[in-house]
Amino acid sequence: KIKIPSDIEIAQNSDMKKITEIANELQITDDELEPYGHYKAKLSLNIFNRLKDKKDGKVILVTAINPTPAGEGKSTVTVGLGQALTKLGKKAVIAMREPSLGPTMGVKGGATGGGYSQVLPMEDINLHFTGDIHAITTANNALSALIDNHIQQGNTLNIDPRRIIWKRVLDMNDRALRKVVIGLGGPFQGVPREDGFDITVASEIMAIFCLASDLNDLKHRLSQIVVAFDYNKNPVTVKDLGVEGALTMLLKDAFKPNLVQTIEHTPAIIHGGPFANIAHGCNSVLATKMAAKLGDFVVTEAGFGADLGAEKFLNIKTRSLGIDPEAVVIVATIRALKMHGGVEKEKLTEENVQALQHGVTNLKKHIETIELFGLPYVVAINEFTSDTKAEIDFLQTWCDQHEIPVALTQVWEKGGDGGIQLAEKLLEVMEKKQTSFNHLYPLELSIEEKIRTIAQKVYGAKDIELSSTAKKQIQQFEGEGWAHLPICMAKTQYSLSDDPQKLGRPEGFIILIRELKPSIGAGFIVALTGDVMTMPGLPKKPAALQMDIDENGKAVGLF
Ligand code: ADP
Repeated sequence: KIKIPSDIEIAQNSDMKKITEIANELQITDDELEPYGHYKAKLSLNIFNRLKDKKDGKVILVTAINPTPAGEGKSTVTVGLGQALTKLGKKAVIAMREPSLGPTMGVKGGATGGGYSQVLPMEDINLHFTGDIHAITTANNALSALIDNHIQQGNTLNIDPRRIIWKRVLDMNDRALRKVVIGLGGPFQGVPREDGFDITVASEIMAIFCLASDLNDLKHRLSQIVVAFDYNKNPVTVKDLGVEGALTMLLKDAFKPNLVQTIEHTPAIIHGGPFANIAHGCNSVLATKMAAKLGDFVVTEAGFGADLGAEKFLNIKTRSLGIDPEAVVIVATIRALKMHGGVEKEKLTEENVQALQHGVTNLKKHIETIELFGLPYVVAINEFTSDTKAEIDFLQTWCDQHEIPVALTQVWEKGGDGGIQLAEKLLEVMEKKQTSFNHLYPLELSIEEKIRTIAQKVYGAKDIELSSTAKKQIQQFEGEGWAHLPICMAKTQYSLSDDPQKLGRPEGFIILIRELKPSIGAGFIVALTGDVMTMPGLPKKPAALQMDIDENGKAVGLF
């Protein structure tokens, strides 16, 4: 039996072009390119000025069914589809998120695609890349330091230390830091108070970074962040502290999108990386816009299933992006559908058409969701070597019977060649169908009604239930004039419901809204359901145990 090389082995054995060459192919000028070494570069925002009259490329959104913990290959299909479109002679540019070190060290491994559909240099992108996430961490924690210093120096804003909602962050899964006490040791060490850490990719600054349309908008959004409430329960903002200028300055270089390439040299812009279960889950607006200016087709992804990333891309990100997507790819795997049909994790590689028959209901729900948004779509079956002919035949026939456009994709194994069928199907549905994209809810709806709309239409819930805290918060938020904002749901990625154990297509369930969080800078209200954590922990056997470097400094075991 031949040994299948790992993602990192394939990546390290691929030839890269110099980033200047990739930029040349996109007609990016010397002045607009800021190389970080030979294979990565930042792109100047002046490109928007130069190309302001150019028509935007067509945006294709890649989403998926509810995943297994290993991921179902959205990033892999995103990269593979970009490569396939390039093979068909289309000018395609990929837009993706920057990986967080938390999941990389934890269970999930890299987030740069897989097999022969990866973005390069894989190890740089998965590790510190161009430092954007570190800059976001620094800006976040500078704000924390400035808040505590304000209190130490006399607290003229009358901040109630028990009502500070701004937390410190770290780009790591570190459960021990979820709740901490700071400022211990007497008057010279600050004012003692409870604090906590979130993972950087769940932070409001990450969300702001990804939704801001230019530097002015970035600064304006940062100024709107509510960090705390004062003793009269009035909100205290970054503007009140007067530090939005400093925070924007800390982000000025990170804010420029990063250009890299795929294994087959298709250009990819990788920028920003909010989680999709606790934040809005899509790469930056700037990256998507830049890709749309530079290419005729943009392939971009939103995290986890269509109930999380895609819902937020379509209801939140499009409102800042100003470009409507033209089509959606829904990635499904036989193994995840079998899991939704009741098969245990250990038995997912055994043939089981019956389980597939049960599990396909999960795919059906996500298709209905995309139809609600009025977008054409293609289901991409991401083929694994363990899939059997009977299983693939079943799924394809099921799609045909329901008149669902479907394509078998082998981009992991074959790169762009394995995605030609998907690319052609997609071009066909885009051509045929008149898109009439619509948001699921108007912003004027009340906070409660917006949450109910998402729960019922996207998750298939019977209804929602608000905790007494959530009810009080809704009243307070309406009083502050925040009722017109869209909702960013925080929910488990494994189930359509708020209970990770309920697989397939659960029915009759109630979504419990535990608490709300104002993210006024980002421009949304977060609704927390279930036990979603804003700081994950590491598993029993973290991926870090497999990692090493060889004597030449080359990374090993990074998937
Ligand atoms: P997602 O974006 O949905 O989280 P990824 O694209 O990151 O998923 O893929 C998760 C992991 O699964 C990666 O390590 C990738 O190499 C692997 N993978 C993806 N598709 C396949 C496939 N068809 N066969 C084998 N492994 C795959």
